[in-house]
Amino acid sequence: MPGGKITIAIDGPSGAGKSTISRLLAQELGIIHIDTGAMYRAITYKALVKGIDLTDEKKLTELALDTNLEIIPARGDRPQAILLDGKDVTREIRSKAVNEHVSEVAKVAGVRSRLLHLQRKLAAEHSVIMDGRDIGTVVLPSADYKFFLTADLETRAARRYQEIFGDQGDCAEFESVKQNLAERDLIDSSREFAPLRQAKDAILIDTTDLTISEVIEKIKGYLCR
Ligand code: C5P
Repeated sequence: MPGGKITIAIDGPSGAGKSTISRLLAQELGIIHIDTGAMYRAITYKALVKGIDLTDEKKLTELALDTNLEIIPARGDRPQAILLDGKDVTREIRSKAVNEHVSEVAKVAGVRSRLLHLQRKLAAEHSVIMDGRDIGTVVLPSADYKFFLTADLETRAARRYQEIFGDQGDCAEFESVKQNLAERDLIDSSREFAPLRQAKDAILIDTTDLTISEVIEKIKGYLCR
C-alpha cells in the first residue's frame, strides 16, 4: 500500500458484506470507514418522522438541504454513529420502515447531490474506506482502489436475516428480508442518477463462498501490489 493519504471505494448490493468488511479493514489499516448508506437512511428516517410524501422530490430535496448530518466514524470496536440534526439515530435508521423506503428516497437527485457533497468533503479530509452503491462510479471516481462486492441473493438474505433476528426469526421473516433486498437492488440499479453499478476499473469479488477474513485477505492482497 502506498504511503500518504488513500481512498478505497467499496460498492455492491445490500448484504454483500461491504460494511462489515470495510469497518474491519479500516480498523486494520488505521483509517476511517464511512458507511454512506447510513446517510440515505438518516434522511429517510427524518422524512418518515415528518410524514413527508416520499414521492414529492421537491420536499425531499428541501429536507435534505435543511438537515445537519454528522458522521462519527467507527473506531476500534465502536461502530459508526450518525447524528441527525444533533440527535444520535444510529439505531433508528436500521428500522423496517427505513429499510422499506430508503431506496425511494435515494432515487431523488437533490438528495443525492446534497449527500455527494458531504461524502466528498469527508474523503478530501481523511484517508477513507467509503462503502455504498456509487462510490467508485460517482462519488470518488479517482479512488486509489475500487472493489465491487457481490454475493447471491439467498446468501445475502441469510446474512441480513442473521444480523436482524439471530436465532429468533422464522421462514416468513426470512422471505420478507429477501424480498426487501431484491426490491432495493432493483430500484438501486435501475434509477436514473448514480445507479448501483460496478465501475469499469473496480475489482469484482464474489463473497458467496468466502468468510469475512477471506474477503479481507483478498482485498489486502490487491492493496499490496
Ligand atoms: O448500504 P445500505 O443497505 O445501508 O444502504 C441503504 C440504501 O441507501 C441502499 O439500498 C440505497 O438505496 C441507498 N444508497 C445509495 N447510495 C449509496 C449508499 C446507499 O443509493 N452510496
